Amino acid sequence: MIPLTQLREEAEAMRDRLVAVRRDLHQHPELAFEEVRTAGIVADRLSALGYEVQTGVGKTGVVGVLEGGRPTGRPLTLLLRFDMDALPIQEAVDVPFKSQYEGKMHACGHDAHTSIGLGVAEMMVRHRDLWGGVAKFVFQPAEEIVGGALAMIRDGVLENPKPDRMLSMHVWATEEVGIVGMTDGPTLAASGAYRIVVRGRGAHGASPHLGADPVVAAAHIVTALQTIVARNVDPMDQGVVTVGSIHGGTAPNIIPDVVEMQGTIRAFKDEVMQLLRNRIERIAESVAHALGVEASVAFSEAGTPATVNDPAMAQIVRDAATALFGADRVRNDYRIMGAEDCAFFLQAAPGAYVFVGAGNKAKGMTEPHHSPRFQIDEDVLPISVALLTASAIRMLES
Ligand SMILES: [Zn+2]
Ligand SMILES: [Zn+2]
Repeated sequence: MIPLTQLREEAEAMRDRLVAVRRDLHQHPELAFEEVRTAGIVADRLSALGYEVQTGVGKTGVVGVLEGGRPTGRPLTLLLRFDMDALPIQEAVDVPFKSQYEGKMHACGHDAHTSIGLGVAEMMVRHRDLWGGVAKFVFQPAEEIVGGALAMIRDGVLENPKPDRMLSMHVWATEEVGIVGMTDGPTLAASGAYRIVVRGRGAHGASPHLGADPVVAAAHIVTALQTIVARNVDPMDQGVVTVGSIHGGTAPNIIPDVVEMQGTIRAFKDEVMQLLRNRIERIAESVAHALGVEASVAFSEAGTPATVNDPAMAQIVRDAATALFGADRVRNDYRIMGAEDCAFFLQAAPGAYVFVGAGNKAKGMTEPHHSPRFQIDEDVLPISVALLTASAIRMLES
């Protein structure tokens, strides 16, 4: 095993290049499934490092495969996954490497992920003699619209070779740089979207008794939905029911025929997700019925399952983080109600998804992800490279 202090020093020595790649990507953000320039940079770099490279996997995804140089009894394949897409947000921070594309911004840190992934890929080449099996780097498009992972899976990313283990990460700006957040079991929530259509009967606003008002019914439904988490979900579990959009009507004096609502649900457990779905359906239909209108509820197919860490794999990352940065830098039971399509990779192979702090209160870098003022402390780049390299080598050991 490589001395971890050496690994840290090597990652630190790479800092300027990691920053340069990240800033170049930050200036040229590309939205979901449009990551052509980014994918080109990734493919060129992986090829130059000696990886066997496949492009166009899941439209704009890139895969790089490298065999280790150390003989092992049971060679394992480790999938390392990094997402590459940006967001349709106008950047509101004035930095020298500000986005050059109108209305597009790396406001989630996937520019950092891509740079970190290339850094880890370089480290794995440099220390090829320390590990056996196969390192399979997966640069994924379209995480933000939850489509990239499945698109790559449909294009066969989980075959030839099939991963035995997996590793992924997110830079996390609401946590101080250098903090590592990790948990056993679910770390990101399952998510699902729903749509409720409330149908009444339109009428003049001055004669409500001649119609059936879907606006009032929709208001009651929104209120009643709040009882699901408060009254139906076990207080020891977590759940979220949000109504994110509500539309109906055209004028102050017209009662419309229809009101439409859309929202998201989140939970860590499948059974809680099912409970949320059942209650939303029951409440919307029953409240509507009681008020003389009709509600129909539809759930989108495009949800994600929870992102679930394997305890043994999480322990490898935890041990690496503790050895590299000290136990006081490691946060356990780290969970976020957000969702990630990395969940699909973690369903295919036991693995770990880790959060690496990227905020810095002293430098005013505290904005949350997806904010137009989002920023990261670039110290997170070498820190993450060291952490993921150490974890990857250990994961391939046995
Ligand atoms: Zn995001
Ligand atoms: Zn993200």
